[in-house]
Amino acid sequence: MIPGPIKFDKDVLREMSKPTLGHLDPAFVEIFSETLKNLRKVFFCKKGQPFIVSGSGTLAMEMAACNFVEGGDHVLVVNTGCFSDRFVSIFERYGANITQVKCALGDTPSLSDIEKEIVKREYKLVTITHVDTSTGVLCDIKAISEIAKKHGILTIVDGVCSIGGEEFYQDRWDVDISLTTSQKPIGVPPGLAILMVSKMGMEIFRKRKTRVKNYYCDFNNWLPIMESYENKEQKYFATPSVNLIYALQQSIKKMLKEGMKSRFKRHKIISDLFKKSMSELKLKTVSKPEKSAHTMTALYYPEGVDKSILVKIRGNGVVVAGGLHPAIKDRYFRVGHMGIVNKKDIFITISAIKKALLSIENQKLS
Ligand code: PMP
Repeated sequence: MIPGPIKFDKDVLREMSKPTLGHLDPAFVEIFSETLKNLRKVFFCKKGQPFIVSGSGTLAMEMAACNFVEGGDHVLVVNTGCFSDRFVSIFERYGANITQVKCALGDTPSLSDIEKEIVKREYKLVTITHVDTSTGVLCDIKAISEIAKKHGILTIVDGVCSIGGEEFYQDRWDVDISLTTSQKPIGVPPGLAILMVSKMGMEIFRKRKTRVKNYYCDFNNWLPIMESYENKEQKYFATPSVNLIYALQQSIKKMLKEGMKSRFKRHKIISDLFKKSMSELKLKTVSKPEKSAHTMTALYYPEGVDKSILVKIRGNGVVVAGGLHPAIKDRYFRVGHMGIVNKKDIFITISAIKKALLSIENQKLS
């Protein structure tokens, strides 16, 4: 029950142990083609250009940054925690002029603060972390994207901890670039960087004046590959993660069978159930209640409890994660509830946490 890698479906894991086809084998080309096509349905992005590349979420962030930023471009980072900080570090490497809109921990910057900043200069793009895994905060992508579009700037959404679990409609919300990885709500073991770029995003990319500064990440290398595979033609740039793509094909099939909207609803029901039980135990969320994600929960330890409780929870059969945000690292813990998670998993987790709290109480009394 950590916020990724999550527990994976058995059928998805089985794909990992199948014989590895050559990356140019017609049977693999078929699988890759179907996976690329179906990925658009997960992102609700009918005409988007998908990219599936070997790597992790950080690579997907790097691909978004280096393909869209040219030295001196102004970029705005809506900062909600550690993974927004990471975007800042990446942009620095590519010579961007970076401005951040910040907020109190557990909150999101207000829409008016974001707009006030956007009108100050000619920004090329704004980045938003949909769910910041360090705080459990959920950003209102629809509203921020609307502001960005009003002022003609690109939006990049880090959907690593959200896409496939939180409501996300790329076309409807007019998001240009969204990115994720395999090991969270997408439900596939770690190893894939995944991006979806809108038609407008690709047009802006084509207008670049300078060469992309990162060879492996360059869309000019990957676009012909993705287009060829989708059209069932073999083409090579760098060897794809064959078995992870089998697994992704399987996981997407399962997501679509459940229905994306039902999946969003299930995540919400499970999250509400978990948060309600935690509040009954007097545990407070790091995120403001009205700005909380549904794929994970970040909780402050109650008074007199510290991170040693994590070992007790583990002893009760459930693995949860410690804190990540440096400002409060030792004061809170994180629970992931995304992907195939069900009510039974949540009840077991609640019970493991309750038992651990009780044993600490008993220790104090004895
Ligand atoms: N963005 C967010 C919101 C994340 O949660 C993470 C990973 N926890 C990343 C980016 C980086 O992904 P990865 O660890 O797969 O590189």
